[in-house]
Amino acid sequence: MIDPFGREVSYLRVSVTDRCDFRCVYCMSENMTFLPKADVLSLEELDRLCSAFIRKGVKKLRITGGEPLVRRNIISLFQNLSRHLITGELEELTLTTNGSQLPKYASALADCGIKRINVSMDSLDADKFRKLTRWGELDKVQEGIRAARDAGLAIKINTVALKNFNDGEIEDLIRWCGDEGYDMTLIETMPLGDIGADRVEQYLPLSEVRQRLEQTFTLDDIDHKTGGPARYVSVKETGRMLGFITPLTHNFCEGCNRVRLTCTGTLYMCLGQDDAADLRNPLRASEADDLLNAAIDEAIDRKPKGHDFIIDRDNGGPAVTRHMSVTGG
Ligand code: SAM
Ligand code: SF4
Repeated sequence: MIDPFGREVSYLRVSVTDRCDFRCVYCMSENMTFLPKADVLSLEELDRLCSAFIRKGVKKLRITGGEPLVRRNIISLFQNLSRHLITGELEELTLTTNGSQLPKYASALADCGIKRINVSMDSLDADKFRKLTRWGELDKVQEGIRAARDAGLAIKINTVALKNFNDGEIEDLIRWCGDEGYDMTLIETMPLGDIGADRVEQYLPLSEVRQRLEQTFTLDDIDHKTGGPARYVSVKETGRMLGFITPLTHNFCEGCNRVRLTCTGTLYMCLGQDDAADLRNPLRASEADDLLNAAIDEAIDRKPKGHDFIIDRDNGGPAVTRHMSVTGG
């Protein structure tokens, strides 16, 4: 699949549920209204959609949410999708999780051919962690991360940098990742969805963070490219990789290789734009995939050049109305 700007689309991210057992302050408001269950695709339909994308050249599939591991019977989706790893059509099957369910599922995930996962963790302080996630328990998440490591999964920790919250902890988090053997990615808050708070209060430019980190660590740029927004350095003192995802201070769209599917079968061709294509109707209209394939082709032909996020005093509200948990982070 080649988009109008000549970019090859080889990476699909799928949000399998918009629900979550946490309520992270930058992601959700406390009282979220979730999608009616009847609108959500079944696991069989999700499998059919993913498989159609794989036949069209998707090589990397990331399952996300919401919290993917709170969706009932989710392991069966991973088990079924792993057939594409066995045939070699799919190169990587992975997920992004908040870690809370990893104590239960880590080894089953490893059995499905998953090699690496991203786990989100924004603080090493249990009280702060609880405040930030509203409902999360740090102990449980760390237990989950250990379970994943013991199951042989490589781990990357995702940390959203938040002004006046975890900005004082970033050095400690980098050291902790180094000690435990994990890579890490720092993420800027993105203006997605109403969260019942002002994002200007949360926004911490990573350009500032990087300058500060350079006083403590030796950061060497490395040419590790994922076709995504992260720019990577190696941290000499820990020997691990550190990524910076900077949608606000750095435009990363020129090499974009991905599209995102929601759990209702809506395809977003860009995280920061509202244009979307409905794939649920063509999926349900016929048992053959002709209509679905045509709808996918038509959507890829509309992939926009890029996004334009701004967070400042005049633009504290969302750039797009949907939450990250809908489109899938
Ligand atoms: N629940 C899983 C988790 O937390 O890892 C997967 C879904 S979550 C939406 C995926 C990633 O998006 C997480 O690392 C989270 O920190 C990040 N995220 C959520 N809302 C964000 C926002 N407004 N700006 C930047 N990152 C955000
Ligand atoms: Fe849930 Fe992940 Fe959003 Fe936190 S970031 S509320 S864990 S979906």
